[in-house]
Order: sequence, then structure tokens, then C-alpha cells
Amino acid sequence: MSDVLLELKNIAKFYGKGEARLDVLEGASLTVSAGELVALVAPSGAGKSTLLHIAGLLDQPSGGEVVVDGQATHHLGDRARTHLRRTAIGFVYQFHHLLPEFTALENLVIPMLIAGQAEANARTRGMELLELLGVGARAEHRPAELSGGEQQRVAIARAAANRPHIILADEPTGNLDPATSGMVFDALVNLMRNQGSGTLFVTHDHSLARKADRVITLQDGKVIAATL
Ligand code: ADP
Repeated sequence: MSDVLLELKNIAKFYGKGEARLDVLEGASLTVSAGELVALVAPSGAGKSTLLHIAGLLDQPSGGEVVVDGQATHHLGDRARTHLRRTAIGFVYQFHHLLPEFTALENLVIPMLIAGQAEANARTRGMELLELLGVGARAEHRPAELSGGEQQRVAIARAAANRPHIILADEPTGNLDPATSGMVFDALVNLMRNQGSGTLFVTHDHSLARKADRVITLQDGKVIAATL
């Protein structure tokens, strides 16, 4: 098996039609391999979110192919796409989106139960992840009782709960102050390296992008290598 976990082949995406048609992606291609950390840095409106949504099977491209875990997705029906998304991809957003009425640990356990894991295993795995991210002591606290940095660590742990091969992150520390942002980001990198996940993250922060194995940008709807 190749170690390419995510491949975007010649992706096109446009919105609207006729005179109002806006071509956002025009032949965007990229690969993310196992254990690889790739930063996407591009100006607002360049198509970063569009690319991430398509890579995460949340949106369909107008053309091209998305290959996830070696599986072409173009012809998959909704159920198969949803299943692949849930098993192969973990998402981290700028805002944590934790469930407020559940503890940190429960927020990790719930997606594992939904994926069919036994509760005892899910709790063990959940605690391991919280500890790996440095928030083990906060396991029994609800999100409102956690700091912003702690909330985001829990959200990162949750994204990894079902051992996705691919992690997609949209400004994962964008809501945090610079010092906290650096620490939380390092925790994310530690986690993805530990699990061998391929990770694609969007950031405006060059100090984070410099930690990536590779930096890419979007220009005229295409992915090109970038230097900071
Ligand atoms: P970025 O994340 O780099 O800021 P986006 O991917 O959000 O860029 O958006 C790229 C372009 O596509 C922008 O001009 C945006 O207005 C447009 N766009 C994004 N989503 C839609 C949509 N659902 N309908 C129409 N236009 C959209």
C-alpha cells in the first residue's frame, strides 16, 4: 500500500452559474502522506475552506477526484461517503464545538460509541488521548470549566478518537493567544506524529506554518509550493 493517505487530483470547484459563475479551484492537486504535516497558507478568499471541505468529503468538487485512504470517492453514494468521512478523517475547527453538557472525557467517548466501540475501551482510549494532549487532569470537567487552550486540546483529542488516518484542521489555534496557540499546536503535532496521521492544516500564522514538513498555497485556483 502506498503511504499517500489523501490525494486531490485536478480539483475544480465553481459556485453560481452564467455571468455570476465564480471559479474558485481550477485544477488543484495535492497529496498528504502518512506522518506528513502540510500547511496551507493563502489570502482570504483564495479557496482554502473550499479545498478543505472537498478534501473532507463535506462538499463535492465540480470536477476532479478525491482519493481517501486509497479509495476514489467520486462515485460513492451519500452513505458510503459519510462512512468514509467518519472513519478516515478527523476534523479540527477554529472553534472547539464540544458538547457543553458533557465532560471532556464524555466528549471523546461519544464519537467512539457511535463508531461501535465498547464503552470501557472508549473510556481508556479517551483518557490516553487527554493525557497525551496534557489535559488528563481535566477529564471530568465540562467545556465551560476549561480554558480556551484546554478546550481546543480536547477538541483535537476528539478529532483523533477514532484513529482517523487523515486530520484536517482549519485554523486550529486561531482563537487562542500566541503563547497558548504555540503549545496547543505542538500538542496537535505530537498527536499526529504519534498516530502516523497525515495532516493538512490552514493557518495565517507563519510561525505555525514553519513547523510543517511542507507549505503550500493557492494561486489562481491551483495548489503550488510556497516559501514563507
Ligand atoms: P478562504 O477560505 O481562502 O477565505 P473560501 O474557500 O471560503 O476562501 O472562498 C473562496 C471564494 O469562494 C470566495 O470568493 C467566497 O466568497 C466564495 N464562496 C465560498 N463558498 C461559497 C458558496 N457556498 N457560494 C458562493 N460562493 C462561495
